[in-house]
Amino acid sequence: MTEHHLHGSCLCGGVRYQVDRLDLPIQHCHCHTCRKAHAAAYASTAGVLRQHFRWLQGQQLLSSYESSTGKLRHFCRVCGSQLLAERPAQSHVILRVATLDEAPPQRPAAHIWCSHDVAWLAHDGVPSFAEWQA
Ligand SMILES: [Zn+2]
Ligand SMILES: [Zn+2]
Repeated sequence: MTEHHLHGSCLCGGVRYQVDRLDLPIQHCHCHTCRKAHAAAYASTAGVLRQHFRWLQGQQLLSSYESSTGKLRHFCRVCGSQLLAERPAQSHVILRVATLDEAPPQRPAAHIWCSHDVAWLAHDGVPSFAEWQA
């Protein structure tokens, strides 16, 4: 099996990173702090062991916010992209997988924290379009 890295970046391209693989399943997190931090109905996440993650560029552009005690959310302070969250004592970081520039082999395994959903953002049954609604 050949080694395959995945690359990711923030919206402005100032911050770039590399992961060896996603070590934990992709989960769509609906918790209210993810909703606020990502300005989205949910955040798509996956755990990556620290030794499988490295910043390649732009680490000086990162800011972090402690959204709950001991949990740091790191984002690009130029464009606002959320890139990863971590609890420093844990052996893995929580990658924000929508910032990947290459497709991982996995498909999402679960939606979590759906108890925090707000009805006005629920998407089931809402008409969908490939691009925008004409
Ligand atoms: Zn950026
Ligand atoms: Zn969350």
